[in-house]
Amino acid sequence: MTARKIVHADMDAFYASVEQRDAPELRGRPVVVAWRGTRSVVCAASYEARRFGIRSAMAVVRAERLCSDAVFLPPDFPRYRAVSRLVLEIFKRHTDLVEPLSLDEAYLDVTENKTGLLSATEVARTIRAQVLEEVGLTVSAGVAPNKFLAKIASDWRKPNGLYVIRPQDVEDFLPPLPVGRLPGVGKVTESQLEKIGVRIVGDLRGRTLQELEARFGRHGVRMHELARGIDESPVLPDRPTQSVSSEDTFPEDVLLDHTEAMIVQLADKTWTASRKEIRVPRTVVLKLKTKEFRIITRSFTPTVPPSSCEELTRIALSLRARVDLDRRQLYRLVGVGLSNFSDPAEQQAQSTLFE
Ligand SMILES: [Mg+2]
Repeated sequence: MTARKIVHADMDAFYASVEQRDAPELRGRPVVVAWRGTRSVVCAASYEARRFGIRSAMAVVRAERLCSDAVFLPPDFPRYRAVSRLVLEIFKRHTDLVEPLSLDEAYLDVTENKTGLLSATEVARTIRAQVLEEVGLTVSAGVAPNKFLAKIASDWRKPNGLYVIRPQDVEDFLPPLPVGRLPGVGKVTESQLEKIGVRIVGDLRGRTLQELEARFGRHGVRMHELARGIDESPVLPDRPTQSVSSEDTFPEDVLLDHTEAMIVQLADKTWTASRKEIRVPRTVVLKLKTKEFRIITRSFTPTVPPSSCEELTRIALSLRARVDLDRRQLYRLVGVGLSNFSDPAEQQAQSTLFE
């Protein structure tokens, strides 16, 4: 079997870069794309804004405090979507195996490419040049034998960079990485790993499959593979989004009554993420994990898709009333999701049908 050649392409500070491209007076200035509001989060920050410590998903109030001179602009998703479509067309000149992850990033399987270029690195270089030339934006790219390494690689020389991890480089590249760079290893897993003396991928490699599985279940098995550079997941072209969700573990287990602040935060994140989709979701899902790791989900499908973050939040909070466990039950994790995506036009047709 020949090694696969995967490219991960990631537009640099995408929404902010589109704004700067279209308004020359914004170039070189800190630009933050976000809805204003006490509960809003940053959708994108230009590299000038990042110098002040502003990051996407940060609370807007905090971003304002970090840089009061920044230009705050509300997101214009129809425009970003149009630009995204042009970029996608460029990708598709090179391979049909393109899996968009969001408006600004995609995986490409270029093991075989359509243009006769001799290497995956050449393909990535050409794509970067074409996007700059035809769309006027920079895109960073990573080339590697699988998806997870390609994603790490695209981040390696950001912004406007290209980084290649060849199959023979994997053995040297992986061990010094902090475990947090592995997909699925968030703050909580990271601190659990740190407690058992695992900080870098090299440490993780020293642990047996049995130990990791006993501690982390299926996630442990996955970490054991990732630590060895193994990731067989295929590039799936045009896979429509089934759901968008965010979840988080509490620093300490809490009662159901004390989940409100976290639900409000997660609803905000999920709402913002869902706006990046071309299709519109209708079902709201609340997920809880008990102290004993039992997973509970409750969902609600309103007749009309939720039309604001406030509405999503209200539904998510109200779904708690349908959790019928003991009031003293403790929970370790909560999640808010949106699913049941369909085309806006299709939904309109459906609702007329039932009127
Ligand atoms: Mg990006």
